[in-house]
Amino acid sequence: MSDLEPTTVSTSDPAALPAPSNPRPRPGELNFAAPRAGKPPQHLADLDPAERKAAVEALGHKGFRAKQLSTHYFERLVETPAEMSDLPKAIRDELVARLLPRLLTPVRTLTADQGRTIKSVWRLHDGALVESVLMRYPRRVTVCISSQAGCGMNCPFCATGQEGLTRNMSAAEIVGQVVQAARMLRHGALAVSDPTDRGTVGGEGAGGDMAGDEADGDAEGGPVRVSNVVFMGMGEALANYKAAVGAVRRIIDPSPDGLGMSARGITLSTVGLVPAMDKLAAEGIPLTLALSLHAPDDKLRDELVPVNTRWSVDEAIDAAYRYFEATGRRVSIEYALIRGMNDQGWRADLLAAKLNARGRGWVHVNPIPLNPTPGSRWTASEPGVEREFVRRLRALGVPTTVRDTRGSDIDGACGQLAASTA
Ligand code: SAH
Repeated sequence: MSDLEPTTVSTSDPAALPAPSNPRPRPGELNFAAPRAGKPPQHLADLDPAERKAAVEALGHKGFRAKQLSTHYFERLVETPAEMSDLPKAIRDELVARLLPRLLTPVRTLTADQGRTIKSVWRLHDGALVESVLMRYPRRVTVCISSQAGCGMNCPFCATGQEGLTRNMSAAEIVGQVVQAARMLRHGALAVSDPTDRGTVGGEGAGGDMAGDEADGDAEGGPVRVSNVVFMGMGEALANYKAAVGAVRRIIDPSPDGLGMSARGITLSTVGLVPAMDKLAAEGIPLTLALSLHAPDDKLRDELVPVNTRWSVDEAIDAAYRYFEATGRRVSIEYALIRGMNDQGWRADLLAAKLNARGRGWVHVNPIPLNPTPGSRWTASEPGVEREFVRRLRALGVPTTVRDTRGSDIDGACGQLAASTA
């Protein structure tokens, strides 16, 4: 359980623009077509290095300025003209205004888990609100980011799904959350007070979420760096494919063109949009794919994950297996354990049978105790039922790790992110 420390760290002009309101989706209704309204201004992080150079030249400046701007943004993590003394004063403001517009305005910051979890609420240029969550573990630091304002997938147990889709985020808005997290860490957020609890170079993490390969810690207990990025905040990243993959490329492009992180530290979670899963497999990026399954049978999954009416359990698992075959990356199956809904022993057995039918060693299961959401009649499984579910999967040879519920007291845990919490 989290220790609630409701410290509101920053409140900057939160009432300037209202959050766009959109009608709540009807049960089962899917929304793939994001409204075109609200497109954010173009940002350097929307562009690849060649496009950045062209953009700078189109403004009448020398192409090498693009590299300087990239260094400020991705390496030095600065975006204010005053901090860019290598750029002539006369052109600094213009370059920053045109290529580094501020996309994420902090609305508020909440901490939990003895300071090890920080949820940030951001206001986008059009007033839409999104959230990201920074989590410190013994051997890694993970940031959970949003890819859409709201979500069109309408899973009934997820707070974001119940809000409906406001709009797609741009690549720069998505990667900007990682840059902000890196900046917070550089300024001492999550810094270690207990020397036995350092973020250090690490292998597989002990916790339930995705483990990274190279958490970057400081033996002296100084600032740590982001080692893992999970696309598990608001939104269905694969329904915003181009921007999400653009953001992934910015995260892994070597510094200063990008943040220079390892693709192996990135996990992208999907409801199971099969064509987009296949497209992602063909990108050749060794990131981890997570499939939100939540039920091994179509009858129940149609209800819990409405997109199942388009792509069935078997089709989604087949696509996950193809992803493993193409990338060599072990796939995660997410399974929110909901009391009396999907937590029966026979469902654990059926899940194991379906996974094992495709092969061994290609997948692991992440049961997630259901986090409460407003207005939902569902709750987490009894601890004994959860243990039995896990035991059965393991007994059938399926590696299984229960995901922790970081940030649940600040509505920062899986499925609790919603603009209305701001
Ligand atoms: N759209 C993506 C990312 C969603 S969030 C997807 O669906 O995969 C990441 C995970 O949290 C998903 O597996 C999602 O189903 C799960 N989740 C949503 N609401 C939850 C809740 N109330 N409790 C626990 N997990 C939840």
